[in-house]
Amino acid sequence: MTTCTTTSKLPPYVCIDNPACKNKHVLRELAQEVTFPLTPEVQQALSDLEAKFDSEKMIAGLAAPQIGYSYRIIIFAAPDDPVIKQFRKDLVQTMPKTIWFNPTYTPLNNEKRKDMEGCFSVEKHVGPVERYTHIAYTATIMEGTKITGEATGFLARVIQHEIDHLNGILCMDKVKEAEKIDKKKYIAERKKLLEQIHINQTC
Ligand SMILES: [Zn+2]
Repeated sequence: MTTCTTTSKLPPYVCIDNPACKNKHVLRELAQEVTFPLTPEVQQALSDLEAKFDSEKMIAGLAAPQIGYSYRIIIFAAPDDPVIKQFRKDLVQTMPKTIWFNPTYTPLNNEKRKDMEGCFSVEKHVGPVERYTHIAYTATIMEGTKITGEATGFLARVIQHEIDHLNGILCMDKVKEAEKIDKKKYIAERKKLLEQIHINQTC
């Protein structure tokens, strides 16, 4: 994982709990609305965000503020992947890699579910986050066209997590202190589980 001390050409992740990050205020701002046609600055942010997303193996989504751009842009995916489904039993609605500008969400009912979340902007912890299970969304896509739709389960979780970033909210803000889990340990355990799944699949 790239951190604030990266030497990569892509912008590093801004991490709220890394003392080396000087621009962590960007994670707490209301990000700027994007207008069309895209300005060269927004195009650069978009290009970096997509390259950053593509450079990660295990990633559900990223928001522009996470790499230092205070723009309302998110990129995410909920692929039809049997390995992810082992961890995310509520991955029932899938979506390929998607880029949205100025997205919003509203809950369609009061039902919520807790599930583990981690974030590239939080280095030390992961934890269970309560999210709405069914939301309506609005967004603008690449051509400037406005879209609306509904999302459920894991897809709805990812969308809520990423849109929260545009409003200065981090998933760990929603995790009780006692429920925070060491990120390194959690990732190591998940790797073991993934290896186990791989063995089962190839046997
Ligand atoms: Zn995040």
